[in-house]
Amino acid sequence: MGMKGMETDTVIVGTGLAGLTTALKVLERGVPVILVEKTDRLGGNSMKASSGINGTPTKYQTAKEDEDSVESFESDTVVSGKGLSKLDLVEVLVHQSKNAIEWLTEHNKIDLSVVTKLGGHSHARTHRGSGKLPPGFAIMSLLIKRIEEYERDQKVTVLKESLLNKILKSNSGNVIGIEYVDSDKKTRHITSKNVVLATGGYSADFGSLLKQFRPDLVSFPSTNGQQTTGDGQKVAARDVEANLIHMDQVQVHPTGFLKLTSINEKWKFLCGELIRGIGGFLISPVTGERFTNELGRRDQVTQAILDNCGVTTSLSNDIGIELGRAVSLIVVNKNDYEKAKNHIDFYTSQKLLQRGSLTDMVQFLRRINDKIDGKVVLNTLIDYNNAIASKKDDTYGRKDFGSTFDEENEEYYFGLITPVVHFSMGGIEINKYGQVLNKDHQIVPNLYAVGEVSGGLHGGNRLGGSSLLECVVFGTVVSGKITGD
Ligand SMILES: Cc1cc2nc3c(=O)[nH]c(=O)nc-3n(C[C@H](O)[C@H](O)[C@H](O)COP(=O)(O)OP(=O)(O)OC[C@H]3O[C@@H](n4cnc5c(N)ncnc54)[C@H](O)[C@@H]3O)c2cc1C
Repeated sequence: MGMKGMETDTVIVGTGLAGLTTALKVLERGVPVILVEKTDRLGGNSMKASSGINGTPTKYQTAKEDEDSVESFESDTVVSGKGLSKLDLVEVLVHQSKNAIEWLTEHNKIDLSVVTKLGGHSHARTHRGSGKLPPGFAIMSLLIKRIEEYERDQKVTVLKESLLNKILKSNSGNVIGIEYVDSDKKTRHITSKNVVLATGGYSADFGSLLKQFRPDLVSFPSTNGQQTTGDGQKVAARDVEANLIHMDQVQVHPTGFLKLTSINEKWKFLCGELIRGIGGFLISPVTGERFTNELGRRDQVTQAILDNCGVTTSLSNDIGIELGRAVSLIVVNKNDYEKAKNHIDFYTSQKLLQRGSLTDMVQFLRRINDKIDGKVVLNTLIDYNNAIASKKDDTYGRKDFGSTFDEENEEYYFGLITPVVHFSMGGIEINKYGQVLNKDHQIVPNLYAVGEVSGGLHGGNRLGGSSLLECVVFGTVVSGKITGD
């Protein structure tokens, strides 16, 4: 303490999409910035985003989806949030979504020309590029490059391996900077007129926030990077009495891949919703049968897997899956493969999916349950194929299907999945300007929270594609507040 540190106008903690959008928008107005990042690289979980970013109306929404509107997006968001979402935040999100897409595509020249419809959306409004790069990686690589250009011109200072551990206040309670621990483990101060927390969620914080708010999820794996430990939420609650809201609202995604070479690893690669969307389906290794509408809501599919696919001592379990874990086989046929070739080729190259015949698939299931009857699996395939052909009468209520297939002679892509902790809806309460609110609902002067670190927008359930959007929209709002625009 008492040491002399750096001084700046705006310090931004965290370098995911929330931090970098805020930084670039502030830098574009000539205001100096220091970026603080605890890992040795920029990008956070934003790098991993695989489905895309929402926005409407945009020029990429083709004639068929023209009936989409800001009102429809707003209503989908509120319905998805199960009545918990803060409506003033939702309004900002949906009304600014067009500008957010334009900033990325026109200002930053990022390709987001392909639009798809994800679960819970009434229209196709989730944008990604037409090339092989997943959207998070494509967006973040470009923005990181822009930050590096500002860094070369000495307009921004980027501190990596630097861990925020305190928010500094004046005697009157105004935020005046931060304390952090640098790469040499030295404690340092930055004095700053504005502090922006963009430190992400807590979906990897099994030992602390998840244990406190969702003890039922502690044994689950996660799709998030290990750095996702809710640091911003904890520091802000402790140092400025920031109000934390909806902390028990954590999204579990039904399909995280199990890799055979690291089957009980806590950190899983996400099997994108797209794979079920194109026709992929789930088979229980306990029965060899389907057990749910694979296109139900994320929480419903998750519950069905937990109820029908638990690995117990009564299974042979030759591949050594942790007892109690619920795993399911996800299967895609050759015709459907063509619709998501880039994704599936990538998953296959990573050994998350394998390609094989019906016999291969049955043999694989027998590695978990040696009592699996090949005839039962064949009947499962025949029933599903019949449902596809008739487009109705699916036992499980599924309404959208992929292509029919030749059950016995098909080439399949298959792999194991399990439910995974994926996204934290809860976080620091903010107002519609991104200003942090304390327990008395008063603004904490000079402190902002942007992105997954904030809570309240998504309520009880986030729509796919709205998290990246939140980062760009609220990064823009906060930068406007900081620069007086
Ligand atoms: C596999 C996967 C796929 C996803 N797909 C999509 C999708 O298609 N569309 C969508 O909208 N959303 C998606 N999401 C969600 C979305 O990616 C995240 O919610 C979003 O990127 C969060 O951005 P952020 O900037 O708030 O946080 P992050 O990108 O997580 O960045 C936070 C940064 O803060 C740093 N940090 C944390 N604590 C400290 C500290 N104490 N000091 C200094 N630095 C710190 C972290 O190291 C990290 O770099 C996906 C998430 C995952 C995991």
